[in-house]
Amino acid sequence: MMKTFVLATENENKVSEFRLALKDTPFKIKSLKDLGLSLDVEEVGTTFEENAILKAKYISKFTKYPVIADDSGLELRALNGFPGINSHRFMEGSTYEEKGAALNEMLAPYSDKGARFVCAIALVGLNQFPDVFVGQVKGKLIEDATGEGGFGYDPFFYIPEKGKTMAELSPEEKNNLSHRAEAIKRFKEFLENL
Ligand code: IMP
Repeated sequence: MMKTFVLATENENKVSEFRLALKDTPFKIKSLKDLGLSLDVEEVGTTFEENAILKAKYISKFTKYPVIADDSGLELRALNGFPGINSHRFMEGSTYEEKGAALNEMLAPYSDKGARFVCAIALVGLNQFPDVFVGQVKGKLIEDATGEGGFGYDPFFYIPEKGKTMAELSPEEKNNLSHRAEAIKRFKEFLENL
């Protein structure tokens, strides 16, 4: 089944990661840029799932294609999941260098540096109700930003099994283990079983 989906994001890094993950499948991604659309929606949900659904539903008003949206973020265990759904908005206008330093300062009183990335993908337009697929990857927040790849908090996110930060992985390696990769895998399995 050849199928085109619109990806409701203005984050071109997410577009590239989706395209890489779906490279050898019949599932193709059109970006908002391809369609000249913008994601003018307030993320007022209280969970990744809710915000992903909000974004997918908003864009589905402007296109006949089924729409997928990714809502994702970094959670710190000692801070009860902060910044979570506010990962993008946290210290808006600052660089990720500054955001990472601020999070490290908040974590300073705790020995637990446990972190995870979470990704929820909502799919709107295939079923009567939205479908949602979730993935996560566990790691640790580190103080010194390391690596040039990826985006966002990747240089501060250390993966013990790899001995590397997420930003030190090649796009293909990130695509093998990331929160987004895991959610996309569930999305693909769902499509293959339709
Ligand atoms: P969203 O666009 O509202 O879903 O916000 C996602 C935010 O979470 C991004 O702007 C990053 O700050 C963070 N984030 C999500 N996924 C990743 C990732 O793969 N690497 C690094 N940061 C990420």
